[in-house]
Amino acid sequence: MERRDLLRKLIYSGGAGLLYLAGGAWLLKACARAEEPRNDLKPWQPAYAGLEAEGRLEDRIERAYRIFEKCELCPRRCGVNRRKGEAGFCRAPEKVMVYSHHPHFGEELPLVGGGGSGTIFFSNCNLRCVFCQNWPIAHEGRGQAISDAALAEMMLDLQRMGCHNINLVTPTHVMPHIINATRIALQGGLQLPLCYNTSGYERAEIVELLDGIVDIYLPDLKFMDGAEAERYNLAAAADYPAMAQEAIIEMHRQVGDLVIDKNGIALRGLMVRHLVMPNRVAGTREFVHWVANNLSANTYVNIMPQYRVEYRAFEYERIARAITAEEFVEAMEWAVEAGLTNLDQKSLIQLEIYRHRTT
Ligand code: SF4
Repeated sequence: MERRDLLRKLIYSGGAGLLYLAGGAWLLKACARAEEPRNDLKPWQPAYAGLEAEGRLEDRIERAYRIFEKCELCPRRCGVNRRKGEAGFCRAPEKVMVYSHHPHFGEELPLVGGGGSGTIFFSNCNLRCVFCQNWPIAHEGRGQAISDAALAEMMLDLQRMGCHNINLVTPTHVMPHIINATRIALQGGLQLPLCYNTSGYERAEIVELLDGIVDIYLPDLKFMDGAEAERYNLAAAADYPAMAQEAIIEMHRQVGDLVIDKNGIALRGLMVRHLVMPNRVAGTREFVHWVANNLSANTYVNIMPQYRVEYRAFEYERIARAITAEEFVEAMEWAVEAGLTNLDQKSLIQLEIYRHRTT
């Protein structure tokens, strides 16, 4: 039975979660068998190590830092001189700011494994959604300004703790710091893949600079409609869907579908997140068809039910409530109808729970 048929059967029979629980990681193993690491990844090394061996990493860092002088790192294109401390929409100062770094066990299973995902939360944000769950960090900019060398030391810390990747949360506005710190950390022995965990509000031309540096891209695709996007973030980003889609296509071009090792740990590839919102605000049906038609049916997709009324969301009538069970179930059913075959394992379990709530 093909995986697509298997998923369809599980979702419509309501057996996804039960099968997972009863069979341990059976479903995960089924996916793992289909996605053995490619031979050219053995012995595995992070992409940036290869670029450094070719003598090309330093040039990327210089090019990235030059963009700071008239900042166009993201679609806002503020044009401020970040090297002189001028702040644009994201309000990022000259130095990189970090709120926290720690192993994270709540991320997608291929990122978490047994050791956790080595998460670094960067302060500030270039999009700033009105429903942001991390608003003290993203909107208020809480955190400490540190040097790139200190950021490198955080990466090495996470590796020493046994994490499986460096999970860079909200990295867009500090990308030059990140790649410089990565080079410093490589010299100190860093061997973990970088996971670029972004809101999706990116410029594809800037993402091109990360080709050969980032192994795992973890973008959101939050909205499919420009008017909805404009309404629900402080950037008023009506261009969010177009920018995010173009950037995600570039990410997929670079790293392809997700590749995991024999233990189910992500090595390389694209993982796309989509938060289901009340009243179909996020455009979930359009999202799943876009993925199937523009990336691949085998794209790792995490359709998330955990929308909460956070920060200023209570000021907006259509998003001032949690999603209903019916809204999550229909989202997952749309994903299968669109032919997506690599849905996040936890979302399949959550589907089982939400389905019970509808009966
Ligand atoms: S990264 Fe910040 S300063 Fe640069 S263009 Fe984007 S919002 Fe403006």
